[in-house]
Amino acid sequence: MTTTESALFTVRRTGDAPVPSLPPFGQFIGGAFVGPVSDSTADVVNPATEETIMQVPSGSVEDADAAVAAAVAAKAEWAAKTPKDRSAVLLRIADIIEDNRELLETLEAANTGKPAAVAEDDISSAIDTFRFSAGAARAFTTLGADDYAENHTSVVFREPVGVVGVITPWNYPLLMAAWKIAPILAAGNTLVLKPSEQTPLTTLKLAELIANDVPAGVLNIVTGSGRVVGNRISEHPDVDLVAITGSVGSGQKVAESAAATVKRVHLELGGKAPVVVFEDADLEAAAKGVRSAGFWNGGQECGSACRVLVHESVAEKFTELLVREVSEISVGAPGAGDDVEMGSMISRAHYERVLAALEDIRKDGLTIAVGGNALEGPGYFIEPTVVTDVPAGAPVASTEIFGPVVSVETFSTDEEAITRSNETVYGLAASVWTTNSARSLSVPRRLDFGTVWVNSHLVIANECPGRLQGLRLRP
Ligand code: NAD
Repeated sequence: MTTTESALFTVRRTGDAPVPSLPPFGQFIGGAFVGPVSDSTADVVNPATEETIMQVPSGSVEDADAAVAAAVAAKAEWAAKTPKDRSAVLLRIADIIEDNRELLETLEAANTGKPAAVAEDDISSAIDTFRFSAGAARAFTTLGADDYAENHTSVVFREPVGVVGVITPWNYPLLMAAWKIAPILAAGNTLVLKPSEQTPLTTLKLAELIANDVPAGVLNIVTGSGRVVGNRISEHPDVDLVAITGSVGSGQKVAESAAATVKRVHLELGGKAPVVVFEDADLEAAAKGVRSAGFWNGGQECGSACRVLVHESVAEKFTELLVREVSEISVGAPGAGDDVEMGSMISRAHYERVLAALEDIRKDGLTIAVGGNALEGPGYFIEPTVVTDVPAGAPVASTEIFGPVVSVETFSTDEEAITRSNETVYGLAASVWTTNSARSLSVPRRLDFGTVWVNSHLVIANECPGRLQGLRLRP
């Protein structure tokens, strides 16, 4: 694999990136930052510069246990609050995030290498998540009380589950935390959250910012590895439900650990979203859509538009348009300009994983129409890449790469497009591009994915259910 200062792509950099405001050192337990039980720490790295930003505690089983104890102690009082009072706390959190928007965006970008536009979108969505959940907290619906059994009146109460364990990934650190924290608190639960080892900073900063506005013990944050802290949260007998957003492998481990106490498990895992482009599609719009949704967050996105299936009659035209769009993507470090579209990969390990996938693509003899190389460091930058002439069943079209790599296959009939799209183990997301209204209704219903967009991809509204995971793994 070559590292290039490529003809098409260079990494734009800035000499005077804003200095992020860092969170305190410690675990956030019982409403305050407390010293960790052991001295073990982990470096948090800026992946666009490879410099260490700060160290955080590498948490232990004892830290996780202390956080769970704090969440248990706080749960009765929080559960007894009225929806109106819980809603007020969530609205206050949204306002605090909004008041500190710039600080959080800068910190998120520094910790992930993502461009300003993506960090801004993340923080806006996090604010909206808290506001939506604040409204939802006051509008729960349930079956009406009635005499469903003769001479007996039945009443269905919605009750909190109790203590919820949360494990988040690195691609949208604060947003993924918000997607969990907001509804969990809205429903009257307390929680213990473990952020990704790579990206704990905005979650810790949020805890610092809201410490005086959320009752002690209602929200607890423990940094550390998945193997130690994540596993302890999953197996802990006092945790009533564990929710993870992460890879399929981590989801399987969490489900296994949770099985011992038969707790509820909520999994949001990987994806390999098909993008079906029919011959009647607006090809320019589809190419622009893939440029945006395939390379958003550097393709480090579970719903990324990474697997195009295009009708053979328009494949050449579409590919030409897509290659032109992708060639124009501006790559750069955070702060290098508002028009930077793509930042770095999250870590050296992930950068090497993506480069290894590109090496395999070359070994398989596939055509790399644009990109395909690492970019000059420092930082873990990779060129936006389009792979064409991909045969059915090729690994690039079935295995999640989670990087800036989009593959293009062709199909000849609607039936083939649907069958081949469904031939993936991931059931997360898909999109259909067509100007035929019958197809726009019938094809999505036959695609076995939690979310199917029509003539768009990655448009997310908090009112709509999340990208529910349906894995088709066979042992
Ligand atoms: P990851 O699975 O490596 O890590 C996710 C979290 O799980 C981290 O906090 C990690 O420490 C923890 N973890 C790892 N092993 C664990 C264990 N044995 N027990 C408990 N916790 C453990 O994932 P990642 O690399 O951070 O994120 C990328 C993955 O997440 C991709 O597969 C992506 O598709 C998926 N993802 C899914 C969604 C979604 O909404 N479905 C959203 C974002 C990311």
